[in-house]
Amino acid sequence: MINLYDLDFPALEARLTTWGGTYNHAREVWAWLYRQWPVDFEHLPDLPGALRERLAAETTLGVLTVLARQEAPDGKTRKDLLQLADGEHIEGVLLRYRERRSACISTQVGCACGCRFCATGQSGFTRQLSAGEIIAQVLHFQRELAAQGQRLSNFVLMGMGEPLLNYDHTLAALHRLSDPRGLGFAPRRITLSTVGIAPGIERLSTERLPLNLAISLHAATDDLRSQLMPINRRYSLESLFASVEQYTQRTGRRVMFEWVMIGGINDTREQAEALAARLAGLPAHVNLIRLNPIPEYTEQPSTPEASDAFAAVLDRAHIPHTLRQSRGGAIAAGCGQLRRRGRFTRGRKSPVVCPVKLPGGPQR
Ligand code: SAH
Ligand code: SF4
Repeated sequence: MINLYDLDFPALEARLTTWGGTYNHAREVWAWLYRQWPVDFEHLPDLPGALRERLAAETTLGVLTVLARQEAPDGKTRKDLLQLADGEHIEGVLLRYRERRSACISTQVGCACGCRFCATGQSGFTRQLSAGEIIAQVLHFQRELAAQGQRLSNFVLMGMGEPLLNYDHTLAALHRLSDPRGLGFAPRRITLSTVGIAPGIERLSTERLPLNLAISLHAATDDLRSQLMPINRRYSLESLFASVEQYTQRTGRRVMFEWVMIGGINDTREQAEALAARLAGLPAHVNLIRLNPIPEYTEQPSTPEASDAFAAVLDRAHIPHTLRQSRGGAIAAGCGQLRRRGRFTRGRKSPVVCPVKLPGGPQR
């Protein structure tokens, strides 16, 4: 079965042509896919009967099945356990702010990077998502919001997986989602978060896609970063920052740095000063996020006092930063709490927070 959302326009045209269709048929099907976000073949555009039959018999729309849905007590954060065509699971999160709706999208089933504090990382890697499966998540939330007279304002690639280790599928999806002839989602409303795959960041700087780039930094010395994030042994801070500098110079864009505040580990004065030194002169913004607790990692979030002291060091060094407040919730939908077989448990109080400062005003 071919997922139609896995195809770019030339591939769709080629496929329809082999089935006796024309360029214009491909245009109609494309508009149907990206303007109407269909869930079945019932309202296919007016096509020759044989073509309709081939489409219905040999292609799919890759619609995700919702296996479970969990709403946080604050009524603003919802987590869906979504099933893919092969039975694998991912989780998607919808965050409702006063004026904006933001979705947290996955790029892989699991993740191979193994960051110590991340539930996805602790569950290991299963497989890449296809471009169509990434697009399907955005459409999943778009459809629902459209039915309520709303629309998705932003999405962040901050669900499961490392987007730059699934570069081709992720970028194919982002190009189709942002292309005015595709979904037409403004790139400035898209945020890609990466653990710091230096060659991927360099490659991203050559794409004509002015999205927001967030780097999960979390430590400013190689020894601590390698302890927390094994990927640092492959791409050291030096190579990471070389790629970031190239990115900022080529694109003229500011980069966001995410810093999960872990009590007594990376919230020290030494780390704050090392961070300030690394970012001096870079067009950067730091998001300080409290650690969302996960059972596999016993460390605790920083105390408010430690977070404030850390932020004060950045202040003095004139490094722009935001101390993110946690949004209440008990559904393990916070960053790093997503896992393959969603734990839809009740009652455990854990903060739900989306770490990136999203464009378009305050988050709460
Ligand atoms: N792989 C990418 C994107 C997915 S992770 C990346 O690492 O950037 C999304 C964000 O959640 C990352 O910044 C990650 O560091 C953060 N995160 C992971 N575990 C977390 C936790 N337990 N508490 C808070 N944030 C966490
Ligand atoms: Fe993978 Fe990102 Fe989790 Fe690290 S933080 S394990 S890169 S999903």
